[in-house]
Amino acid sequence: MTETGRRGEVETDASVTGERNPPEALEAVDTHCHLFLIEEDPAAVVEGARAEGVGTLICVGIDPESSVRSLELAESFRGVFATAGMHPHTASDLDGTAGGAIEELLASPRVVGVGETGLDFYRMHSPREDQERAFRAHIGLSRETGKPLVVHVRDAWVEAMSILEEERAEHVVLHCFTGDASIAREAAARGYTLSFSGNVTYPKNASIRDAAAAVDADRFVVETDSPFLAPQRIRGRDNRPVGVIDVIEQLAEARGESVENVHRATSENARAAFPGLR
Ligand SMILES: [Zn+2]
Repeated sequence: MTETGRRGEVETDASVTGERNPPEALEAVDTHCHLFLIEEDPAAVVEGARAEGVGTLICVGIDPESSVRSLELAESFRGVFATAGMHPHTASDLDGTAGGAIEELLASPRVVGVGETGLDFYRMHSPREDQERAFRAHIGLSRETGKPLVVHVRDAWVEAMSILEEERAEHVVLHCFTGDASIAREAAARGYTLSFSGNVTYPKNASIRDAAAAVDADRFVVETDSPFLAPQRIRGRDNRPVGVIDVIEQLAEARGESVENVHRATSENARAAFPGLR
């Protein structure tokens, strides 16, 4: 984290005081960003996104500290929501204290998802057993709270899909989907939501575009994972939530649909996958 809270300067969210977010169907939703990792005033980032039609952002926590920060941001800005969880990279740190902190955060209506959690056997920053244990614990929290699970998977699709089934995960969002078309179909058949990120725009990632074309229009949402995964157009730079527009355009092309249709579908699907956005 590189900046501190400046809550006095920002507008207050009407929904914090009880009103709901208006269902602006054509407003794009970035279902996965890390505002606390972006080296820019979050007020400017949120305002810049809104100016380009990206009015709803889910700021995803990667450990208890960043989950607390995500909730602070959600309480400070209209259209920003949070999640709480422990990333698979630091799964070994999920002890009773951290688990208790995550559980406490999940009580807030501004915290709309559990995670990010999952399995990353590519980096393997935490031992596999710790990742699996933490993943199962998050699935339990998702089942208890009814809040959707935000799942990170890298080089572990078979394992992740079988744990989700074993633990009877109900509300699942597969963040930064990188599986192939057959995994996409299996996930969609189970009722999971696939979240596509900026890497769907990279020339070499034809298999992700095939996956996006393989599922029904109610099964996918869009995200940026910003500041990571900048779309091809600005590749090499830090990404921003506004980059979700590139993802929508690429999905429209991959699916042979209009940009407007994909825009509308992803906004509606995001609200279905994350009921707390309503
Ligand atoms: Zn992420």
